[in-house]
Amino acid sequence: MLDQFGRDIRYLRVSVTDRCNLRCRYCMPEEGVEWVPHSAILSYEQIVRLVGAAAQLGVEKVRLTGGEPLVRKGLAELVREIKHIYGIRTVCLTTNGLLLADQLPALLEAGLDGVNLSLDTLDKAQFAALTRRDGLAQAMAGLEAALAAPGLTVKVNCVPSGENDSQLVPLAALARDRDLTVRFIELMPIGLGSSLTRRTEQEVLARLEEAFGPAIPCPQDTLSGPSRNVTFRGFQGKVGFISALSHQFCASCNRVRLTATGFLKTCLQYDQGVDLKPLLDSGADDHALLEAMRQAISHKPAHHHFDGAHEARDEGRNMNQIGG
Ligand code: SAM
Ligand code: SF4
Repeated sequence: MLDQFGRDIRYLRVSVTDRCNLRCRYCMPEEGVEWVPHSAILSYEQIVRLVGAAAQLGVEKVRLTGGEPLVRKGLAELVREIKHIYGIRTVCLTTNGLLLADQLPALLEAGLDGVNLSLDTLDKAQFAALTRRDGLAQAMAGLEAALAAPGLTVKVNCVPSGENDSQLVPLAALARDRDLTVRFIELMPIGLGSSLTRRTEQEVLARLEEAFGPAIPCPQDTLSGPSRNVTFRGFQGKVGFISALSHQFCASCNRVRLTATGFLKTCLQYDQGVDLKPLLDSGADDHALLEAMRQAISHKPAHHHFDGAHEARDEGRNMNQIGG
């Protein structure tokens, strides 16, 4: 459906849990995390119903995220059910990869179309410092499994945070040696994201050009969303930049988010949207659900203001509660 600014909303990110097996410094505190009680989390049945409603409003792409989506039991079954919803064309997953090698066969069998694997460093000690867990070998096993899966779209997402400057070139080199896209995502000042140092697209690109020579722009394809892709001489794959701050893309934003507790969130930065769980719990019919979703989506904010003054309805959640 079109929002009030004429943007066609086709993409829904669904967070299935706020829990995670890592504690990335820009995302979650080391200790004292207050988990959402299980009773407040949407059941798979409720998620399927809401995705079905979203599909009626024009959503055709779903991404499962978290927290770490693979820590929630039975995720492959959810993939299968969402793939069966009329109108949904692709179901993808964003994961830290630790549990991926084990679960990939079932996910593929259920129809998973793509995996974005978050990886900020290839250095074991730095991985442990950034995520506060020792998980690099498992994440790499997940990446290898994904790359070996025929027909699966695989992307690596890295957030340059000032803590991993030395790893930007080695991470980009994954796209030299393999046919995959490595994307650099600007750190956003949401929750703990404000505590680290953002590196801009320009800064990252300068480092990469120093190592690999001039970047060669790739034609913008509609499937890469806000990612601006380039490649370098001798590369098999691509390098992408998703730069919400230095190159704001709000005017073409086609996404909304569903938190694990059923809040339909219409912009990453604002606590704006509609809480759908009370409607589900009170037995609301499809008409009421659709109407609530339609109202919220239609009022999707025009743009974020990460570089401007704070507003009353700014997001107070950490990224593990939103889903990235
Ligand atoms: N656990 C999964 C993972 O790490 O891929 C999925 C959830 S995680 C919240 C989704 C994405 O959000 C990850 O790629 C992570 O790097 C990114 N992220 C978390 N906090 C961020 C921040 N402050 N700015 C930009 N990206 C962030
Ligand atoms: Fe977990 Fe993903 Fe957040 Fe890291 S970024 S703590 S892996 S939810």
